[in-house]
Amino acid sequence: MLQLLRTTWALGQRTGVRSIACLSSLSETHQILQKTCREFANAELAPSARHHDREELFPAEQIKKLGELGLLAVTVKEEYGGSGLDYQAYAIGMEEIARGDAAVSVVMGVNNLYVGTVQQHGTEEQKQNFLEPFTQGKHIAFYALSEPGNGSDAGAASTTAKLNDETQTYLLNGTKAWISNSKEASGGLVFATIDKTLRHKGITAFLTHKDVYGLSVSKKENKMGMRASSTCQLVLEDVQVPQNQILSMPGNGFRIAMESLDCGRIGIAAQATGIAQAALELAVDYSQKRLAFGKQLSKMQMIQQKLADMALRVETSRLLTWRAAWLKDNGLPITKEASMAKLHASEAATYCAHQCIQVLGGMGYVTDMPAELYYRNARVTEIYEGTSEIQRLVIAGSIIKEYAV
Ligand SMILES: Cc1cc2nc3c(=O)[nH]c(=O)nc-3n(C[C@H](O)[C@H](O)[C@H](O)COP(=O)(O)OP(=O)(O)OC[C@H]3O[C@@H](n4cnc5c(N)ncnc54)[C@H](O)[C@@H]3O)c2cc1C
Repeated sequence: MLQLLRTTWALGQRTGVRSIACLSSLSETHQILQKTCREFANAELAPSARHHDREELFPAEQIKKLGELGLLAVTVKEEYGGSGLDYQAYAIGMEEIARGDAAVSVVMGVNNLYVGTVQQHGTEEQKQNFLEPFTQGKHIAFYALSEPGNGSDAGAASTTAKLNDETQTYLLNGTKAWISNSKEASGGLVFATIDKTLRHKGITAFLTHKDVYGLSVSKKENKMGMRASSTCQLVLEDVQVPQNQILSMPGNGFRIAMESLDCGRIGIAAQATGIAQAALELAVDYSQKRLAFGKQLSKMQMIQQKLADMALRVETSRLLTWRAAWLKDNGLPITKEASMAKLHASEAATYCAHQCIQVLGGMGYVTDMPAELYYRNARVTEIYEGTSEIQRLVIAGSIIKEYAV
């Protein structure tokens, strides 16, 4: 945390800081973090977002800087190289980075998901080998749960892990699909089943380096948005993983995945809020400059209605996200609340980007302005880390239990 605070102060001093809404409800640390991330996003992320998107360029330098700022391991303790901050800080950082360039926030989100999971469940030895190296931007990680045959139904994993009695190592075989960061990552977490007949109770989480025999990155997806972050298939052919690289214990992988995805959903909700905020700011700005029928768009009530509806969704997204983060920071259950935040914020991001295009008219539809980029980036927030349909199932399941007589 100290490192982050020092860096944030220094950067804040250099760049100068303008007033930011919502500050009054935040602690001093959170305010500094928010200002710093915002200035960094304005100065270094937003200007190159279009170029990185068009060329599908991984923003290596920017990711290194995120590491230096402590944003790749926000909730990891300082003794392991993290920032030692809380989930509220994580949500604030993610929102600001996504507001500048959502694709950069994908890399940040996946790395934080990975390091948070290893911190929570890893042994001391695992933390030395598989946590510390991934906290400061030198290395990034992947989180491989989904497969070509199953995404929402993560318990149906068909990547197998077979124990070799002689060597006492596991042999992993199968294909993981849609794996963010996998092209550039140095290692990560692979979920595989030790016994398919056990369904989710057979799923086990394995830590692995990427440069091991039998592990290869194949098909890179050509995506609609978030194009600066890589999404590839990972193919595992007799990949040897020693027993001491199992996170927690055999058969505990599904529980680990569900718990860590609760936290991941806070991150995606914050990411979506950042995209929605960017779309709102662009729409307001454009509506004040553009004249139609002799007056500014911002003076027209039908445009004002759009701006109001966007602003409402941005605020509710942020509040739901911060509530889920607050619950997490206070050791309270978050499954329902994280799902609510993720569901609402992701749909709000798509809505706001859609309305932003509408306010900009033709200029919203072309690449001169970032409205269409916001739309393309927003769309996936309704899909990954649990689709909107899955969030609704989670929320309904929770409230039916809560309200049961
Ligand atoms: C850009 C990108 C990055 C990703 N990064 C990662 C990553 O790093 N690691 C990782 O493990 N995965 C990653 N994913 C995978 C992502 O989590 C899955 O795509 C997602 O969980 C949905 O799974 P699916 O694509 O198999 O869709 P399916 O599960 O086949 O679902 C298809 C449709 O059916 C609906 N549906 C499914 N089941 C139900 C149900 N019971 N009731 C109602 N509707 C249902 C879904 O909501 C969806 O609309 C990524 C995906 C994308 C697009």
